[in-house]
Amino acid sequence: MGGGGEDLTFIDDEGKRLDGRKPNELRPIKMKLGGVPNADGSALVEWGDNKVMAACYGPRELHPKHKQHPMRALVQVTYNMAPFSVSDRKRPGPDRRSQEISKVLSEALTHVTFVEQFPKATIDVYVEILQASAGTRCVGLTAASLAMADAGIPMRDIVTSVAAGKVGGEIVLDLSKEEDNFGEADLPIGMVVNSGEVVLLQMDGHMTTAEFEKAMGLIEDAAKEIYGMQVDAIKAKYSEVGA
Ligand code: UDP
Repeated sequence: MGGGGEDLTFIDDEGKRLDGRKPNELRPIKMKLGGVPNADGSALVEWGDNKVMAACYGPRELHPKHKQHPMRALVQVTYNMAPFSVSDRKRPGPDRRSQEISKVLSEALTHVTFVEQFPKATIDVYVEILQASAGTRCVGLTAASLAMADAGIPMRDIVTSVAAGKVGGEIVLDLSKEEDNFGEADLPIGMVVNSGEVVLLQMDGHMTTAEFEKAMGLIEDAAKEIYGMQVDAIKAKYSEVGA
C-alpha cells in the first residue's frame, strides 16, 4: 500500500472502478495446462496484465540428503519475477520479497499434498512471473496448483487464490496495479474451495472486522468461480489426451 493516491477517485458515481470493473468483479482470467514439456507438469495463467508460468518436477529424491525429511516429501516453491516483468526492470535474483512469497506458497501447497506418501523426496515447483501487475502471489499459487495437478502429484484438492482490498474506503475484489499502489489495504487469500480451509492469509494495510468479513465474502465467491476455471483447464488437457 503505497499511499500518495489521495487525488484518485477509485470508485466513480456509477460504482465503477478505475479500470471499469464493478467492486466484486475479477480481471479477465485465462488458464492452460502445459507449456514446459521438460517438466512433469506445467501451467500458464494470464490474469489481467499478469502472466505467470508454473512448472513442477517430482516427486524426486531430495539432494543434499541432509535436507531430506525421513517421513515426508518437501514441497519447495521458487517464486521469481523475471527482470522484464515490470517496466522499470526487476533486479534479477532472489530478494526478501520473493523468498517470503516462495515460503508462503510452499506452506499453502504442502497443506493439500499427500507428502507422507513420499519420504525423503522433494516436489519442486517454479513460479515464474513473466509479466507483473498486482496480485502475482495469488496468480502464482493458482498456477502452481495446476502445474502440480498436471504432474499427477497426489493432492487432497487444489488451492485457489485471489485477493480483495480496500480502496477509497470501499472493499473491492482483485486489486489492479493502481489500486494496489495507492489503496488502503490488500488481503491475498489462498483457499481450498471445497472445504473452505484457508491455506494462505496475508494482509497489507488495515481493515475493520466488518470490512475484513466483507472482503472474505467477495473472495469466497470469486474463489468458487476461479476453482471452476481450474477444473475446466484440467479437463481440457485430459480431453485433448483422450482424443
Ligand atoms: N512489483 C514491482 N517490482 C518488484 C516487486 C513488485 O514492480 O520488485 C510490482 C508488481 O507489479 C507486483 C506489485 O508490485 O505485482 C505488487 O507487489 P506485492 O509485493 O504486493 O505482491 P503481489 O501483489 O504481486 O502478490
